[in-house]
Amino acid sequence: MANSVNYHVLESEMDSMLHDTDDATLKEETHSHSIGMRKTPMKSIIIMVLSIVLVLLILVVIGVLSVTYLNCQDEKPKIIVVLVDGLRWDLYNVSMSALKSVAENGVRAESMVPTFPSLSSPNMYSIATGLFSESHGVVHNLVFDVENKTQSHSFEEGLTVDYWWDQPGVEPLWITARRAGFKTGTIMYPGGSVSIKEMRPNKNVFYSFNATMKDGVDIAIEWLIDDDLDLVFLYNTSLDDTLHQYGVNSPQADAVVKEMDDGLGYLLQKLENHTLANSVNVIVVSDHGHHNITEVVPLFGRGVNRDDFEFYLEVYGPMTLLQPKEEKMDDVYETLKKIEHFHVYKKEEIPKDLHYRNNERIPSMLILGDLGTVLNVGLNSSSTVRSTHGWNSSYMEMHSVFYAQGPAFKEGFMSKSFTNVDVYPLMCKILGVTPRPNNGTLDIVQNMLTT
Ligand SMILES: [Zn+2]
Repeated sequence: MANSVNYHVLESEMDSMLHDTDDATLKEETHSHSIGMRKTPMKSIIIMVLSIVLVLLILVVIGVLSVTYLNCQDEKPKIIVVLVDGLRWDLYNVSMSALKSVAENGVRAESMVPTFPSLSSPNMYSIATGLFSESHGVVHNLVFDVENKTQSHSFEEGLTVDYWWDQPGVEPLWITARRAGFKTGTIMYPGGSVSIKEMRPNKNVFYSFNATMKDGVDIAIEWLIDDDLDLVFLYNTSLDDTLHQYGVNSPQADAVVKEMDDGLGYLLQKLENHTLANSVNVIVVSDHGHHNITEVVPLFGRGVNRDDFEFYLEVYGPMTLLQPKEEKMDDVYETLKKIEHFHVYKKEEIPKDLHYRNNERIPSMLILGDLGTVLNVGLNSSSTVRSTHGWNSSYMEMHSVFYAQGPAFKEGFMSKSFTNVDVYPLMCKILGVTPRPNNGTLDIVQNMLTT
């Protein structure tokens, strides 16, 4: 009760004060009018204060809107593509905890189907352009010229030959996105070191044989933060090199799978530390799988010899390209058809589903081994290659990976397999960039997106 009384007392005192104030204000107001504004009336002070508060409020609202706008600018979609060369869809049964966390927080595909041939450069360019190799023209890791009878002998050599990548109608995403106002960068990624339609990515690191995944991640993070890049392609070759040298399921290769996973974990942690995890979409892909070699067949000395050809691509691998002399065409064809575990196709016979016919760089004949069998075409040295790739992309052993997480992707979603040309339209959709004409389709892959 006492409290109640006191409350009423207080209330009445306040009433009185308020009335007093009102009276005083009125008096002051009357007075000020009479003496010509010599004293500031109380009501004017209140209006002035309210006006100042209102102006301040407007300024605060404008400020908040500006910051929100700037944040929206900052939060435009960003993508980092991590390409682990040779990571097979089944991860070679090695536990990859960082990659597993990407699948849990985001999406994965059962597998990703390479384009033919399941070689590195053709597939990395398919991922970047959405085109089959017959459409983008990077029809082999090796750069060759049938007319001039020349060829490169290493993957690295081809990475600096502009014309091999710069073809009419062919534009990788780092160029298309740059045209659309995004800042782009490529780290050792094939095609990133050459000029395409006289353009390059904003930033590029040339192919380096010894670079670790963590080296690449450090550069990518610096670009995303300091240089405000929106799209980065990061490539690492270590796993593929080790698989070639030691074979599938070797302790050495398994150790590098772990190393790749550590590098990926390092990237995820860095994104988290720099509060980029909610703004950067991470896409982890590979170009093809790997399989141990079971049989090596020398091409020459089995009824055909070097003189029968205008051109042959010297390789140690599952497939090669041949240009028999016109008059030898049928003999060569019939002879090569007899080699067990190999398929020989005249250009016009190459199965349509390989999408490997409609390009003038492809000479008149393709020879392709069954899984495990490789050709030695014109190379004298005995090779120490234990495992390789390049076989028909329909073999599960050639299938690659697709994992992704970030604001654009659902959580914990598993997609059925799709072809790697579908990654390009998917990335265009995330960035809001109009895709160039391509062979991909959004039908399957857009199920992985939140919108
Ligand atoms: Zn590769």
